[in-house]
Amino acid sequence: MEYETVIGLEVHVQLKTQSKMFCSCRADYQDAPVNSRVCPVCLGLPGTLPVINKKAVEYTIMTGLALGCEIPDLTKFDRKNYPYPDLMKGYQISQYDMPLAINGRLDITADGQDRCVRVERVHLEEDVSKLQHVNGGSGAKKTDAHSLVDVNRSGVPLMEVVSHPDMRTPEEARSYLTKLHSILQYLGVSTANAQDGSFRCDANISLRPVGQEEYGTKAEIKNMNSMRSVFLALNHEVERQKKVLDSGDRVVQETRGWSEERNVTYSQRSKEEAHDYRYFPEPDLPPLVIDRAWVEEIRNKIPELPADRLKGLMDEYGLPEYDARLLTNSKAMADFYEQAAGLRPTAEVAGEKFAKNVSNWMLGDLSRLLNLRDLEIGESPVSPEHLAELIGLVDRDAVSVSMAKTVLEEAFESGGSPAQIVQEKGYTQISDSSAVDLAVSQAIDANPQAVADYVGGKETAAKFLVGQVMKITKGQAKPELVNELVTGALEKLK
Ligand SMILES: [Zn+2]
Repeated sequence: MEYETVIGLEVHVQLKTQSKMFCSCRADYQDAPVNSRVCPVCLGLPGTLPVINKKAVEYTIMTGLALGCEIPDLTKFDRKNYPYPDLMKGYQISQYDMPLAINGRLDITADGQDRCVRVERVHLEEDVSKLQHVNGGSGAKKTDAHSLVDVNRSGVPLMEVVSHPDMRTPEEARSYLTKLHSILQYLGVSTANAQDGSFRCDANISLRPVGQEEYGTKAEIKNMNSMRSVFLALNHEVERQKKVLDSGDRVVQETRGWSEERNVTYSQRSKEEAHDYRYFPEPDLPPLVIDRAWVEEIRNKIPELPADRLKGLMDEYGLPEYDARLLTNSKAMADFYEQAAGLRPTAEVAGEKFAKNVSNWMLGDLSRLLNLRDLEIGESPVSPEHLAELIGLVDRDAVSVSMAKTVLEEAFESGGSPAQIVQEKGYTQISDSSAVDLAVSQAIDANPQAVADYVGGKETAAKFLVGQVMKITKGQAKPELVNELVTGALEKLK
């Protein structure tokens, strides 16, 4: 049987506000001492009242607008009841049937195809506490098993972006997440840092026979903290559900976890239905009437988004779409690029050639060095100024391309200026033919067999000798010049 995969995503995003969602505790809990960002409100003590964080509402409306959503005039908060120790109050304040933003869309490209993924809603809720289980774990028979609660995260504004089940492959899901992630960073509403939990994804996935309208039974995969995990987990789930259906069994509606170590999804619990949570309107908060003038004010604050920036880089710098797409995936990358590309040091080199060189170095060697050290572009020890300087040295023939790679590595280690490194280490390119001539004679004297091969008609032997000359000159000779002199010397010997 041929199946079609159906995927919908729910993304939880912590908002970059000063204070928590309903109290005045600071929201930057990540590096704070355990249980230090706490007050009676987020601790859920009786007699306290929540107050809505206006900035969080603004950020959610802004995200909704950027995703092409409608912003209804009226919105409200609801209580979602469930008993679990990560909720101090026994309920979470969320939004049930009247979210802040509805009916948006996100256009993606995956596997060379364009697809529009409809965004069902964007709503606002509060994050929950962090639990740490001590001496627990499966199979453990310890009498001192217990859990610790860190309330710092409880009450941090959490925005949820819910898509319709419009994705058909794990690749499309990954593309949706990449694009959403980049939009959030451009908007500046969240750090969207997946590693520290500011950007978390749950995925609903089901299969149905090709041609069937009705959706199959879905499984929800929770707790994925990277786009790579989502991609791998979905791929695994497609195969698992296929096997279940092919064997004549039924897929069970349930929540599944993703094990990074074992590369499999595993059953966690049967999936709750919305009515299990006994949602009801939050009695401590009045419904919110959204002022249209305020919405327009927020709309005007939306900065340039990835799609516009991509077009801008192509128009202004003549970059190919492939380069522009990679560079604009992250705002920090695009900013770095524009800073460096605006610093063309030599007028002799055409602006477009320089702009493309900056892109090549950033997407090539610089990205490689950053990945090796697990650094973001914003943490690059090589500044945009230094990268531009290095490319200028290559353009002026002051260093060869291969030597420039060494210089970049050294600048990356030391944070120093490439021009200074070249000067101090004597990396200057030798374009003086008398110095190269000497190296050519040395190479020819030392390799009679290669010379004989060349004279005998084997032209590739010249390449070997060019390599030898580069070795003798420690890579500093200008390659075109070496080529010319080696060929000239060999021709004389024929
Ligand atoms: Zn608090």
